[in-house]
Amino acid sequence: MSSEAKEIICIICPVGCRMTAVRDKNSPSGFLVSENQCKKGEAYGIEELTNPTRVLTTTVKINPGIYNRLPVRINGSIPKNKIFPCMKVINKVEVKAPIKIGSVIIENILNTGCDLIASRSMKAS
Ligand code: SF4
Repeated sequence: MSSEAKEIICIICPVGCRMTAVRDKNSPSGFLVSENQCKKGEAYGIEELTNPTRVLTTTVKINPGIYNRLPVRINGSIPKNKIFPCMKVINKVEVKAPIKIGSVIIENILNTGCDLIASRSMKAS
């Protein structure tokens, strides 16, 4: 296996194939993905090798809510290397109750093209 090869678990469907993805000049796509059971896995393997993205879900402080923290999520996938920078921004946020599910808390967070939104509604205490 090349030193650039990456072991990847495909999360596209519940089968969860354990695959290997590597750059390969001789392949038409420029990549070689193996041990995938279908074409979707190949596309996912190439994306994980070139531009891995993640969905970010977490919580923020809310005041004066019926709970202390409000579940939030980013409304799309963001580059993996933006997760920690986004968390630094999110950890400084405190929202005011009441809030409605889907309310935008941070628009276009760190220029990712995605917003941080409320995952649930919460009444004031
Ligand atoms: S490679 Fe295909 S079969 Fe395997 S987990 Fe991914 S989507 Fe499912």
